Amino acid sequence: MTVLKTRFAPSPTGNLHLGGARTALINYIVSKKSSSSKFYLRIEDTDHERSKQEYTDNIINSLRWLGLDWDEEIQVQSKRLARHQKVAKELLQKKQAFKCVCSEEKIAHQRKLIRENKNSSKKICNDCKNNKDIQNKDEGFVVRLDVPDEGNLKINDTIQGDVSVANLELDDFILLRKDQSPTYMLSVVVDDHDLGVNYIIRGDDHFINTFRQYYIYKFMNWNVPQYAHMPLIHGEDGTKLSKRHGAVNILDLKNNGYLKEAIINNLILLGWSNNNEKSETIELDEIIENFEISNLSKSSSIFSFDKLDFFNNFYLRKENGIEEFLSFCESDVELNKYLQKDKTKMKNIFNVYKKDIKKLSDLNNLIKVYFDENYKINKTEKLTSEFDSFFNEFLNLIEGISDWNRDSIQNVINDFLKNNEIKFPVLGKPIRFLLINSYQGPSISDIFIILGKKDTIDRLNQYRGD
Ligand code: GLU
Repeated sequence: MTVLKTRFAPSPTGNLHLGGARTALINYIVSKKSSSSKFYLRIEDTDHERSKQEYTDNIINSLRWLGLDWDEEIQVQSKRLARHQKVAKELLQKKQAFKCVCSEEKIAHQRKLIRENKNSSKKICNDCKNNKDIQNKDEGFVVRLDVPDEGNLKINDTIQGDVSVANLELDDFILLRKDQSPTYMLSVVVDDHDLGVNYIIRGDDHFINTFRQYYIYKFMNWNVPQYAHMPLIHGEDGTKLSKRHGAVNILDLKNNGYLKEAIINNLILLGWSNNNEKSETIELDEIIENFEISNLSKSSSIFSFDKLDFFNNFYLRKENGIEEFLSFCESDVELNKYLQKDKTKMKNIFNVYKKDIKKLSDLNNLIKVYFDENYKINKTEKLTSEFDSFFNEFLNLIEGISDWNRDSIQNVINDFLKNNEIKFPVLGKPIRFLLINSYQGPSISDIFIILGKKDTIDRLNQYRGD
């Protein structure tokens, strides 16, 4: 099997969101199909104004949390400026790049002509490269790549297939800015080449860049990597997935109590299906085994938060859901206090509620009532006279339960209902209301277990007191 070298190359101009995580995930999976393949991480911080350390930290922490570990050291683009400049210099020497001193006004005018289709070619500068004085300058110029105008360029993309672009459509883009700092366009190619990246998998918003970047590889006589451009993810309204659709940043999802398995499961099914299986749930090991990037759909996929909730509920109910819940609590000041106070109660709450929750933060408010040491029943609510007529007898029976477990509690309740010919809701709903101030919720035996005998009796006794 070919040794593949893939990479994820985010710009630290924002937090890692679902779209970026999907790109990272697919690069990771492709690299994991063979033990000698590699997955690299590079921080592309050539945009000095918009790049921030906090975003780099967020990207790294998000990838670590998702379990998408990279090979070797993280490459930081800004630390390799000298190397990028050296390549630009070589291209200048070989006359495959040229110095350009065009004024802002001239460039704006040229762009206008291009926009209005008055120029057949997209090239911005036609004069500087033939001017010896300009080409001999030592400063005060940008460096542009001399992309040809004639012919077409065909690229075979794993997902998009064969795509041709006329060279007239490609611009003579900038490699070095006026201050001689390299642009993304140059740095990305040099860094990928130097890392030995031979498979570039990224969003299809970069597809046109591939045609431009191709010429740097070609002029440097470097091997051109294989490409796979993935369609972007859209929200349910058909527009590009963004904050407007809900939490899209990975660590925000984590803080809301989404599990990484659910996020990964959801992301991998965007444009791909695991044909062998009827079930949609699939974990990383199986994804690595079955995923083929060539089967990824060419059309954009819709991200559904309902689906994410479905997967999250599925993984919360699995065996290690409880561990996920406990570590979620440990990372939250408020929840951690409850955990320190009574871990068993917290575990019981999770086990009782897990089938009904979408994310762990759904429990934040529900937990409070079970830990309320000054709990007061709602005395303004009028309960039925039928309930009042049997309440004391029921409470006495409950007090008599010596072995406080679900089975004995359930038996006492069932016998009581049967012997007195009472329908369950007539007893259950008001008892639930007295215990947790809500008519809706878990079965009353579950609530008894969570509260424990003493608290259950104390809370119910407040009603007897009237
Ligand atoms: N740094 C680019 C971005 O975050 C990605 C570059 C690439 O994948 O080639 O959009």
